[in-house]
Amino acid sequence: MHPSSKVIRTRVPRTDEMEHSTPMFLTSSFCFDNAEDMRAAFADETDDNIYSRFSNPNVQEFTDRMCALEGAEAGFATASGMSAIFGSFMALLKQGDHLLACSSIFGSTHTVISKFLPKYGIEYTYVEVDKPETWEAAIRPNTKMLYLETPTNPGLDIVDLELTGKLCKKHNIILNVDNCFATPVAQTPISFGADIVVHSATKWIDGQGRVLGGVVVGRKDLVKEIYTFCRSTGPTLSAFNAWVLSKSLETLDVRMERHSGNALFLARELEQHPALSWVKYPFLPSHPQYAIATKQMSNGGGIVCFELKGGLEAGRAFLDKLKMLSLTANLGDSRSIASHPASTTHAKLTEAERLATGITPGLIRISVGLEKKEDILEDILQALG
Ligand SMILES: *Cc1c(COP(=O)(O)O)cnc(C)c1O
Repeated sequence: MHPSSKVIRTRVPRTDEMEHSTPMFLTSSFCFDNAEDMRAAFADETDDNIYSRFSNPNVQEFTDRMCALEGAEAGFATASGMSAIFGSFMALLKQGDHLLACSSIFGSTHTVISKFLPKYGIEYTYVEVDKPETWEAAIRPNTKMLYLETPTNPGLDIVDLELTGKLCKKHNIILNVDNCFATPVAQTPISFGADIVVHSATKWIDGQGRVLGGVVVGRKDLVKEIYTFCRSTGPTLSAFNAWVLSKSLETLDVRMERHSGNALFLARELEQHPALSWVKYPFLPSHPQYAIATKQMSNGGGIVCFELKGGLEAGRAFLDKLKMLSLTANLGDSRSIASHPASTTHAKLTEAERLATGITPGLIRISVGLEKKEDILEDILQALG
């Protein structure tokens, strides 16, 4: 079966009620018929659920579905994308190890790497996303992991996964990829050599702005370490959120088809607009890494970025003129969202620091929703006009 069919048909066993749709298992713990069954479960001799911090049928179903989509051996679901990322670092890195990370990464991931990992004696080096030829020289004898996002947030830069996978194999380094922006229906990093894939399920996977969640999938031996760390420290996904996210996966493929179709339409329509100095979208031929994007992704995703010629003030004015698009911090929602990083998420940085992370003064990021494409375009055009 194609992964997009398999995900719909993967489910936990039916209860005695023979329900068609998976019910919610809102229970903190699970019962045993006798002392022997309970002993065997605690001894890991069976897969029986014991306690919902360790496992729960809804969480299991969501994880199994993510493994089906990503082509992964094993997985573990967490309360948020950040707990998935943090768990993957804490379980797989130790004092004295070195982490190589791409500098264009999600803000909180940046904070975890540069503020918290050093407290545990884990060293790090940032490499630049657009200079992959410099990465090999940054590898040290104690380099244990390479961490990256592709496409990046908010710059939409693309990392060549095949090249990176080969580099990591050559140096025996764990390749850990945040696949949040692409989603597994557009890109499967494991097929290019990634060992671990992390997700914020809060974004496109939920797709309707309702719940937070995260997931780690990948090599069985590595996921087992992450599972042990998370089972003991507690950032487990709730059964309710897992039920929501698992249902969402049934429509991920069809939703991303519409999101990415709308996004490509907008990018093409806006590319020549006189108020913009550039428009960036992975599947626009003008994108610097268009060839790599179209090689490793089956669609360009749902995010479009553009630069307003008027800079910072034009960015604020643009947000104020929008009538339909939402002004909110999330992305990957059925409703289109506009954000202006320079005056919001990245306002505390100096202009030089912002430029170093690709945040230009007039940068607008559009998370393209499921509304009719003409309506989204019309709102953007009137706000630019
Ligand atoms: C939002 C996001 C995260 C963090 O996910 P949460 O669910 O908010 O914890 C990590 N990576 C990327 C690329 C994101 O967009």
